[in-house]
Amino acid sequence: MAIQWFPGHMAKARRQVTEKLKLIDVVIELVDARVPQSSRNPMVDEITEGKPRLIVLNKADMADPVVTDAWLRALKRDDIEVVAVDAKHSKGLKQLMSGAEKLMQEKHDRMREKGRNPGPIRALIIGIPNVGKSTLINRLAGRNIAVTGDRPGVTKRQQWIKMKGGEMELLDTPGILWPKFEDQMVGYRLAATGAIKDDILNLDDIALYTARELSARYPDQLKERFKIDQLPEDAVELLELIGKKRGLVSGGYVDFEKASELLLNELRHEKIGRVSLETPADHDMA
Ligand code: GDP
Repeated sequence: MAIQWFPGHMAKARRQVTEKLKLIDVVIELVDARVPQSSRNPMVDEITEGKPRLIVLNKADMADPVVTDAWLRALKRDDIEVVAVDAKHSKGLKQLMSGAEKLMQEKHDRMREKGRNPGPIRALIIGIPNVGKSTLINRLAGRNIAVTGDRPGVTKRQQWIKMKGGEMELLDTPGILWPKFEDQMVGYRLAATGAIKDDILNLDDIALYTARELSARYPDQLKERFKIDQLPEDAVELLELIGKKRGLVSGGYVDFEKASELLLNELRHEKIGRVSLETPADHDMA
């Protein structure tokens, strides 16, 4: 991951988001649809201080659609709307807009009753690195904007980006939050999906975690991709078999590192199909 989080950074990131909250109506919280819980900051409720929130399950094109539907239901609250989006290919942006409008509807109706014009919805995009914040800002703006996070020591005037159609305005600097690594599974899920660099955790461990998860959740997709009739129960054996199937053998031994890299690459490039690595049921949220 590009950013290493230390307590000082976390406090600063939090302060920056808090400052921006004063300027906006709606928080757009971006998470990775394949790992919606692990790719969010667990303190987000506290940090956003009860502002209406739109949770965007981004990269929905890579996630298991059945699991994404379950997340859409599980995360919904009175003051939270949830939408699935594929920012890369500009899909789901209309639903995103109507989600934001729904959150503001009561307030806007009251304003209109008093003869006031509510104006465009002002929004801030927040999320951990790599969930697609810059991509989404560019798609919503309909043009390429050099999106940068806040830089230490650089005070920059906040700019509003008008969305195509003008119903919403976005702050040009997204709020960057930190993932919570204390739980090792969070780290594995983020590493498997490519959100954090492989060198933070051990590559073999990430690959073994991935092999186990795919065997349990998507056995048929795994069998089909690697032409395996019966999946070995043991994850080490499975990785070895994958290595053999792809000829990653030297001196009679499977090159474990290459097999690990191969499995992770194929997962991240959707060669194993659409895959989600956590469900609401995993978190007792179903
Ligand atoms: P940021 O760090 O949150 O600003 O994330 P970026 O916008 O830089 O996106 C990180 C990576 O995810 C880039 O390679 C994007 O092309 C990719 N990406 C972003 N949104 C999507 C999406 O909806 N689907 C897919 N498949 N890739 C996406």
